[in-house]
Amino acid sequence: VEEKSSPHSCPACSVLDAGDGSSDNQIYGPIIGHVRSENSIISVLRRAEDHTADRITQFAGTMRFVYVHIIWFSVWVLGNLGLAGLGFHFDRFPFGLLTLIVSLEAIFLATFVMISQNRQAARSEFRAELDFENNLRGEIWSVHIGHALGIDVAHVEDIVTEALIAARARLKDHQNG
Ligand SMILES: [Zn+2]
Repeated sequence: VEEKSSPHSCPACSVLDAGDGSSDNQIYGPIIGHVRSENSIISVLRRAEDHTADRITQFAGTMRFVYVHIIWFSVWVLGNLGLAGLGFHFDRFPFGLLTLIVSLEAIFLATFVMISQNRQAARSEFRAELDFENNLRGEIWSVHIGHALGIDVAHVEDIVTEALIAARARLKDHQNG
């Protein structure tokens, strides 16, 4: 990967370079490698256009879904037992056809739930990717602006380190307790 301007030529970029603890002329090299190519972002968006699995999963998570099944099972079972004034006998006790249909429904529902979860995960990942890129852009801009304004960069970095250590300690406490 060729760089348009060497970080060495820019004082703000040398601050960014030193931010990870070593001035190795690699500002974000290893991190930027993780930024997705445009193609994979487009493929995530294209997958996001297919909402069928989401709609089915959404409906399966409602009380209406339960009511529909209660009515379906009641009519089927009572009718095939010849009860409640219903008299059809295409699936007598122990209701083998109903068992088959419900088993197939369960398989497809489980698959739809997993498809939906995969799509959800892809969407979150995509959003995290955008957040990351914006954070990166924001950091580069703020260091350059700070440098242009003559802000004491060492002081700001000290405060940042202090704040990060405190935040990570709090996170650890939260995870442990
Ligand atoms: Zn620069």
